[in-house]
Amino acid sequence: MSRSSDRRPLNQQFASDNNAGICPEALDAICMANVGHAPSYGEDRWTAEVCDLFRELFGCHCEVFFVFNGTAANSLAIASLCRSYHAIICHRLAHIETDECGAPEFFSHGAKLLLADGPEGKLDPANVRQIITKRSDIHYPKPKVISVTQATEVGTVYTPHELEAVSEVAREYGLKIHMDGARFANAMASLEIEPAAITVDCGVDVLCFGGSKNGLAMGEAVIFFDLAAAKEFAYQCKQAGQLASKMRFIAAQWLGILKSGAWLRYARHANQMAELLEQRLRQISQIEVIMPRQANSVFVRMPEDVVTQMHRKGWRFYTFIGAGGARLMCSWDTTEEAINAFVADLKECLLA
Ligand SMILES: *Cc1c(COP(=O)(O)O)cnc(C)c1O
Repeated sequence: MSRSSDRRPLNQQFASDNNAGICPEALDAICMANVGHAPSYGEDRWTAEVCDLFRELFGCHCEVFFVFNGTAANSLAIASLCRSYHAIICHRLAHIETDECGAPEFFSHGAKLLLADGPEGKLDPANVRQIITKRSDIHYPKPKVISVTQATEVGTVYTPHELEAVSEVAREYGLKIHMDGARFANAMASLEIEPAAITVDCGVDVLCFGGSKNGLAMGEAVIFFDLAAAKEFAYQCKQAGQLASKMRFIAAQWLGILKSGAWLRYARHANQMAELLEQRLRQISQIEVIMPRQANSVFVRMPEDVVTQMHRKGWRFYTFIGAGGARLMCSWDTTEEAINAFVADLKECLLA
């Protein structure tokens, strides 16, 4: 039967947190910044204020830049850390490997991604070490950067202890650390620690702090703890077409969510909704949860025909991400009603 679910609340899905709209704090901030003329290209007062707020948040002097999306943030951040003959070590499931169309290699003019393994989407430090030490001759690209994703592509979260172990290997061999934080807020909500404790204190050199998946219309913050690497980053952004002339509207959104604490509140909400969804799904015997749920996604295995039926009912979710299975992603605005409706439809499909 191919009818749309009567249960599904309007506009609620589990496809991605970037399917969600703009949170009120960000939208209001855009309106409040819409006051006549202001200097362009980041010379405005909103940008100055939010950069200071980030420094306060991380408790250190960091350099802050804004780009439109996560692919640009990651690719340019990585390009700032390496030259064309270098290599970047990342997890096999990393977004920079699987979902950025070769942009990290493109923007670094040929630097190569070397793929590492590790359970639950996290790098195994021993495997990273193997990759670094495998070759030291001139015929192989020189490892220069380790890229970690926080939260990971499979919804898990590095603890400071786990990240420190990766960082130790980086320090030993003089490698830099890039963190893809498209869901950094969700990781922070999960860990309940100070942002510095999982970034600058663990040796992270540059963090791509995601805004889009945390309730902004667009705009990611690229935060350099390694100040030397930030020196010419503005030129890289400009050349890549990532310098927003009306920067104040990206900056204002960040101000809106940082000042109010909404960034963490919404991330907590998304995580809690995922936890609730997980609890509900665990009660259904034909559904298997296949990844530890630590942030705002639940990865499950369900019968193939049930996936098809659920899609027919109008539910959107992906089945090709990370380790496979269905990925159910919660966002800042996910409601309990949406979860109830999804689970009710799922049970119906399993009975059919
Ligand atoms: C969504 C996402 C990004 C950013 O993707 P864009 O579509 O370029 O904004 C980066 N890394 C991870 C892990 C993501 O999930």
